[in-house]
Amino acid sequence: MIKADCHLHTSFSGDSTAPMEQMIEQAIRLGLSRLCFTEHLDWDYPAPKPQGADSAGEATGNGPQNPLSLDLPAYFKRFEELSTHYRSQIELRFGIELGMIESGYAAYHTLLQRYPFDFVIASSHLVDRLDPYYPEFWQSYRQKGNEAARLGVERYFASTLEHLIAYQNFDTYAHLDYIIRYAPGKRSYSYAEYADSLDAILKRLIELEKALEVNTGGYKYGLGVPNPQPEVLRRYRELGGELITSGSDAHAPEHIAYDFAICRELLSSLGFRYYAVYDKRSRNMWKL
Ligand SMILES: [Zn+2]
Ligand SMILES: [Zn+2]
Repeated sequence: MIKADCHLHTSFSGDSTAPMEQMIEQAIRLGLSRLCFTEHLDWDYPAPKPQGADSAGEATGNGPQNPLSLDLPAYFKRFEELSTHYRSQIELRFGIELGMIESGYAAYHTLLQRYPFDFVIASSHLVDRLDPYYPEFWQSYRQKGNEAARLGVERYFASTLEHLIAYQNFDTYAHLDYIIRYAPGKRSYSYAEYADSLDAILKRLIELEKALEVNTGGYKYGLGVPNPQPEVLRRYRELGGELITSGSDAHAPEHIAYDFAICRELLSSLGFRYYAVYDKRSRNMWKL
């Protein structure tokens, strides 16, 4: 059984309104042993597009204009209060999800030294400063017709590899094929289409001894598979990868540990026996 949900958001993240206590109470009801909060910080995430403008607003560091900024002092204070309060019922851990962007690397290094993080997720939400969640990202590929989705996805993977070469201060890479949730007309793909890019990413993670996250948000989005999809997990295993982390990416209590039982079966069928959890950035392996 997967007893740790190590990817979730509360009202400290710009895209969630869930109070931390409600997430904790739900995790206790579900019988989880551990919950690791991983609030968003996406450095320079562009402000929402003003009416009538063609492109997204200015990039804003971690300032108030940034919709995925993070008030770290407030987050840490509340985490400490609640981890003390719930100590006898569940293990709470302090994590963060860092949105990869070149302009954020230095700031990320600094703040990771400043706070006692248990766990650090890296993930790609922006590619060339645009989020594939929004149509603006896909517009830049539109002139290429049916090839748009394939080219957009290919660029997403290439950009992920660039981050993995330039930045290593993290523990797991989250939702590796996040883009497939939003690719127009393309809710699935075969490994063979992107084998070169994906192999390079997986080999890099293995070489760095970083984990690959299995994000059950894919089930929630109706993809029928987690992110990344099973072929990617199978290939990771084939290449010698063993470090898996588990996360629902819940933004609301009802999505905590989403389809974890299905995910466990999948991992087990692919030959995984353990998953990784982190305390003060140090890895422990728990039985699946
Ligand atoms: Zn994410
Ligand atoms: Zn997330």
